[in-house]
Amino acid sequence: MSDKMSKNFRSAAESGSGHWGSPEYGQHTGMVHAGVLPDPTTGAVLTPIYQSTTFIQESIAKYCEKGFSYTRSANPTTAALEQRICAAENGAGAAAFTTGMAACCTIVCSVMSAGDHAVVTNCSYGGTNRAMRVMFTRFNMEFTFVDMANLDEVKAAIKPNTKMIFSESPANPTLVLADLPALSALAKEKGLVHVSDSTFATPVICRPIDHGVDLVLQSTTKYYDGHNITVGGAVISATKEWDEKIRFHQNVLGNSMSPQVAFYQLQTSKTMPLRIKHQSANAQAIAEFLESHPKVDTVRYPGLKSHPQKALADKQHRGGMHGGMLWFEVKGGTAAGQKLMDTVEKPWCLCENLGASESIITCPAVMTHANMLAEDRAKVGITDGFIRVSCGLEDAEDLIATLKKALDNL
Ligand code: PLP
Repeated sequence: MSDKMSKNFRSAAESGSGHWGSPEYGQHTGMVHAGVLPDPTTGAVLTPIYQSTTFIQESIAKYCEKGFSYTRSANPTTAALEQRICAAENGAGAAAFTTGMAACCTIVCSVMSAGDHAVVTNCSYGGTNRAMRVMFTRFNMEFTFVDMANLDEVKAAIKPNTKMIFSESPANPTLVLADLPALSALAKEKGLVHVSDSTFATPVICRPIDHGVDLVLQSTTKYYDGHNITVGGAVISATKEWDEKIRFHQNVLGNSMSPQVAFYQLQTSKTMPLRIKHQSANAQAIAEFLESHPKVDTVRYPGLKSHPQKALADKQHRGGMHGGMLWFEVKGGTAAGQKLMDTVEKPWCLCENLGASESIITCPAVMTHANMLAEDRAKVGITDGFIRVSCGLEDAEDLIATLKKALDNL
């Protein structure tokens, strides 16, 4: 499997700077150019914001010949971002959504019907857990939450009415990895759809479709945006058939991404490979510092030798990078953990969200995972003093110095 990006380099001319001469390009080239053509009227280098609800048709016979009729169904700016994402993730198609949760719920609506069952990771973004546990069960769908790192547990949970395996790798916030090729092989053997949330990894670190996954979920709010500007989501399909099904449900639900947001994410996504390289280096340095500090109890980062799935991380993650997310717990339990989050100074920001330029410290039990049942959080090790860290683009030494000050004062 080539590591390159090979899709959606569309030429605007037979030769010269409007022409792409090779079938594939590196990731940096791809993230800057994939999906974008010079504006056909003016030559503008950026795809403009097509801020228009509707598109005039030449005749009834030629309805939708140019691919656009009404912005809920398709919009040229959003389509350019979808082509960029599709190329980055090596999919057959991609659909962009208002948020990651809109993308997640559209997947469930597209894959499952009343009476169907899914095997779902017991550790995911809290909103995913809530959508399935609280909302979709009302429509007579069933979900069994299991440890996705334990293939036997996944196998044991499969029933005659199972339709989907839903993994997340690395999982938010515990950074437990799912063995994507093994889960995909199991899904294939049993005739199930393998869906994987790859928000933490991004295509810079892992392309789940290369590992047999059918549908990839991205909260593009995170690393695709990377600047705390917009919220968005995407579903990347391994086949055209899945892409059509997802788009059908997106059009029914009316949760497609707006052209304004797509324009922002077309620009911010260009630097995603550069950002993730720096964020991964920052995370590695911070994780190593934390592991050496006497007040720290546990640190988890897939780049540390102490990560229980280090071998899988090295096999599944690209470019020797493991991303910008880590977590730790300090000695002294909840009170000490919460004191650290309350007292750590700038550049750290105490808030939700992740993947941005600003380094973020989060208390999942109170913020991102408050919507999980307390006993379910406890089962996967999300204590009230659990500290989730999203490493940003600042200098590692500044981030470490302020963490050290807060830790020394505990
Ligand atoms: N998936 C993961 C792994 C997330 O972290 C989040 C949000 O934090 C989502 C999905 C949901 O995305 P959004 O907040 O864009 O709806």
